Amino acid sequence: MELHYLTIAQARELLDRRELSAVELTQAMLARIEASEPRLHAYLTVTADQALAQAAAADKLIAAGQAGSLTGIPAGIKDVICTQGVRTTCASRILENFVPPFDATLVARLKAAGMVMLGKHNMDEFAMGSSTENSAFGPTHNPWDLKAIPGGSSGGSAASVAAGSAFFAVGTDTGGSIRQPASHCGVVGLKPTYGRVSRLGLVAFASSLDQAGPFARSVADLAEVLQVIAGHDPADSTSSPTPVPDYRAALGRGVKGLRLGLPREFFAAGLDPEVEAAVRGAITALEGLGAELVEVSLPHSDYGLAVYYIIAPAECSSNLARFDGVKYGLSLRAERGSLMDMYLDTRSQGFGPEVIRRVMLGTYALSAGYYDAYYGKAGQVRTLIRRDFERAFAQCDAIVSPVAPTPAFDLGQKVDDPVQMYLSDIFTLSCNLAGLPGMSLPCGFSQKGRPIGLQILGPHFAEETLLAIGHAYQGVSDHHAQRPAL
Ligand code: GLN
Repeated sequence: MELHYLTIAQARELLDRRELSAVELTQAMLARIEASEPRLHAYLTVTADQALAQAAAADKLIAAGQAGSLTGIPAGIKDVICTQGVRTTCASRILENFVPPFDATLVARLKAAGMVMLGKHNMDEFAMGSSTENSAFGPTHNPWDLKAIPGGSSGGSAASVAAGSAFFAVGTDTGGSIRQPASHCGVVGLKPTYGRVSRLGLVAFASSLDQAGPFARSVADLAEVLQVIAGHDPADSTSSPTPVPDYRAALGRGVKGLRLGLPREFFAAGLDPEVEAAVRGAITALEGLGAELVEVSLPHSDYGLAVYYIIAPAECSSNLARFDGVKYGLSLRAERGSLMDMYLDTRSQGFGPEVIRRVMLGTYALSAGYYDAYYGKAGQVRTLIRRDFERAFAQCDAIVSPVAPTPAFDLGQKVDDPVQMYLSDIFTLSCNLAGLPGMSLPCGFSQKGRPIGLQILGPHFAEETLLAIGHAYQGVSDHHAQRPAL
């Protein structure tokens, strides 16, 4: 039996029946990491000793009959999420040796539920990118095809879950960074509603868009993780007090009578034919299960990319101002240089080229005299995009679409063309602008054997609907059960 590809439910059963110990399971996962990492590079830090200690503690809890839902389940955390005592680099030279003194709220919750943390996952620097090639420590490879990108920015998380070097992972999604890599690696990823999961302890990229969420190999496993990390955090004023429903209970609801909206603008020119065929196949399967299909329109979709690339860099330039050589991480203090020299040296050597590009774009957009023309205007168009979704959700319960316009591209293919790279997120970023929940799940493969994802978007706090649709689809399809030949 391949322990590393068990479902969370299967592992839970073996652990609770004491047929497998958490230490044994963790050892198997560490061996899987050792075997796969030379090819994948999905982890930036592996915390083997700590994981084995957590597993031993989990075994004691299990023996005492006090196991929580994730007790003894090994997982990885994206390296933009703070972990107490474990370095959190954001895949940046500027934070290469930064060790947070506290756990992000979501990490504290996972630990309280018994998670064994295997380590920290690779990503694009500060979560800026769509391919994980912007990591200062080298890219992650796609387990389905080592020549391909895993997607980004949470590429390490998606690749690791696909490769069986983590049972689940938690990443972040500002414009698509959970859904797009989930799609490219053939796993399930969910960006919850803005405010559903606490942002305390996420190193901020764009505060009005960032949201953390889970990766797993099935929708049922995903629900287990969401159940733990969702909920109000008094220490994050943007987290929502809306009560957390029973996500496991939602899994069995089915899709009968649900209206699924197909946005006209997302099935237009530029969509790769293999992606379109796989996505339409999944939609037909859902229709076969009793869902009703309706065409909807999101007329301001064309402006999504432009709006995102004003708002995200503007917020990034402001958030990243804290990395100045004084408070965190790298500090290049010239012997007799001025304070300004320290700022310039630390930031120009600590940040990679894409982060510098974003900071400059954002600083320009926010500069005196331009604020209204750019950030102000982008905020207005953002409202129009949100209203598009409100109108669409008057006609349907969820929206179904592709996640990315093409299957995973080759490593190196788009690194010199930022606009081509930005276009990878054309179908995912309007969800963040509107604060909606969005899920990606496997719905097919390209001729080259690269996974393709289906995106399901819902109204605010409709995570249950997304889970119900996804679980119903996984009951009649087996794309999520395929494993890479790694
Ligand atoms: N690829 C997008 C960007 O580079 C989205 C990243 C994300 O969601 N963190 O900004």
